[in-house]
Amino acid sequence: MMFFSKVLRCGAQTGMRLHGTSAKSAPGALNTVQRGFNFDMTDQQKEFQDMARKFAREEIIPVAPHYDKTGEYPVPLIQRAWELGLMNSHIPEDCGGVGLGIFDACLITEEIAYGCTGIQTAIEANSLGQMPVIIAGNDQQRKKYLGRMTEEPLMCAYCVTEPGAGSDVAGIKTRAERKGDEYIINGQKMWITNGGKANWYFLLARTNPDPKAPAGKAFTGFIVEADTPGVQPGRKEMNMGQRCSDTRGITFEDVRVPKENVLIGEGSGFKIAMGAFDKTRPPVAAGATGLAQRALDEATKYALERKTFGKLIAEHQAVSFLLAEMAMKVELARMAYQRSAWEVDEGRRNTYFASIAKAFAGDIANQVASDAVQIFGGNGFNSEYPVEKLMRDAKIYQIYEGTAQIQRMIIAREHLGKFMQ
Ligand SMILES: Cc1cc2nc3c(=O)[nH]c(=O)nc-3n(C[C@H](O)[C@H](O)[C@H](O)COP(=O)(O)OP(=O)(O)OC[C@H]3O[C@@H](n4cnc5c(N)ncnc54)[C@H](O)[C@@H]3O)c2cc1C
Repeated sequence: MMFFSKVLRCGAQTGMRLHGTSAKSAPGALNTVQRGFNFDMTDQQKEFQDMARKFAREEIIPVAPHYDKTGEYPVPLIQRAWELGLMNSHIPEDCGGVGLGIFDACLITEEIAYGCTGIQTAIEANSLGQMPVIIAGNDQQRKKYLGRMTEEPLMCAYCVTEPGAGSDVAGIKTRAERKGDEYIINGQKMWITNGGKANWYFLLARTNPDPKAPAGKAFTGFIVEADTPGVQPGRKEMNMGQRCSDTRGITFEDVRVPKENVLIGEGSGFKIAMGAFDKTRPPVAAGATGLAQRALDEATKYALERKTFGKLIAEHQAVSFLLAEMAMKVELARMAYQRSAWEVDEGRRNTYFASIAKAFAGDIANQVASDAVQIFGGNGFNSEYPVEKLMRDAKIYQIYEGTAQIQRMIIAREHLGKFMQ
C-alpha cells in the first residue's frame, strides 16, 4: 500500500475518545489526558477523514452515475481506494495491514458512502468477509488470507445467506461433511456481495446433521478459495439500488476444503458469523449516515437555488423545517454509529449499540433520501438529478446485515435482558 498507510499506522495508535479516555499516560501527565466527554478528533483521524472526503468528492461523485446506470463493477475506484489505504483498514499490522479500529474505519466509510454507497458496499463487503478471520483465524490463516489482501487489491465475501434462509441464519442448509483431512461442501448461497469478484469466501455450513443440535454447535465457519473446483457464482443480480455492487447467488458442488481452513474448530461457526456483526454493523450505519448527509446537502443546495412564489423554497417554513428534521436525523445517526464503534474499540460488548446504530441510521437514510426527493419536486423523480439514486440506494440499509426488524429484536432482547437478570 502507498504513503497513506504511514498516516494510518499513526492513526491506529490514537482513536477518538468520546468519554474519559482510556489512553495510558505516565503519572503526573494529567494535562495530556482528556477527561469527560470529548468529541474532538485526533489530527490523524482528521487526516484520513479528509483523504476519504477528497477521494469521494473528486473521484467517486463524478463517475457514480455511470456505475449506477451500467451496473459495472467499479474496478478503478476500488484499486484507487486500495492504493490510498482506504480499504481493508482493520487488517492487523502483523498481517501487513494498518490495524485501524472500528471508529476510524467508520469515519472513512461515511465519507466514501457520501460519494456512492454502491462503491462503499463493495468495499465494506471486504471488511465483512475478513472480520471472521480477524476475530477467529489462527496465525497461519490470518497471515495467508488477510496478508494477501495487503499485497494487491483483492476482494473477499461473507457467504452466509441462502435462498431459503436470511434472517433465520440457523435455517441454512449448506452441508459440510468431513472426509479424512478435508470437508466436502454442498449447497447454495444467495445475495452474496462481491460474490463474483471475491478471491476467497468466509462460508458458513452445517456440519452437524442432527436438526436438534443447537445453532451454537451445529455450524462451522470455513475459508474457501474462490477458484476451488465446484464453486459456481451465478449471474450478477439486478438490484433496485447500489447497482455497481456485485451481488450473486453461488452454488457449492462437492467443493473440497482442507481442514486447515476451518475457523477455530467444528461447531464454532455460528458464533463467529454472528460475532462479526458487532464490528461490521457500526460501519454499515456509518455508510447509511454518509448517504443521508449527501441527501441533506443536495436538498439544501437545491432549496437555496429554487424559487417559487417569488422566494427561495428554503424560505418557505415547511421546507426549512423539513431540512431541520433531516439535519437532526443525520446528526443523531452519526452519534449512534460513533458510540457503537467506540464501545467495541474499547473492548466492550457493543451488540446493543451496534443494532441501535444500524437500525436508526438505516431508517433515517431512507427518510432523509425520500425527503430530499420531495424537496427537489419533479426533478427529484428524475435520474438527471442525484437524489433518486440516493433513495434507491438507501433501501438496502434496512435489509442487509440484519433487517430493520431483526435489529429491533436484538435491541429488545438486550434491553429486556437488563431488567430480567
Ligand atoms: C444487495 C444485498 C446484499 C447482500 N449481501 C450479503 C452478503 O454479502 N452476505 C450474506 O450472507 N448475505 C447478504 N445479503 C442477504 C441479507 O443479509 C438478507 O437478505 C437479509 O438478512 C434478510 O434475509 P431474507 O432476504 O432471507 O429475508 P427474510 O429473512 O425472509 O425476511 C423477510 C421479511 O420478514 C422479516 N422477518 C423475518 N423474520 C422475522 C422475525 N422473526 N420477526 C419479525 N420480522 C421478521 C424481515 O425483517 C423481512 O422484512 C444481501 C442481501 C442483499 C439484498
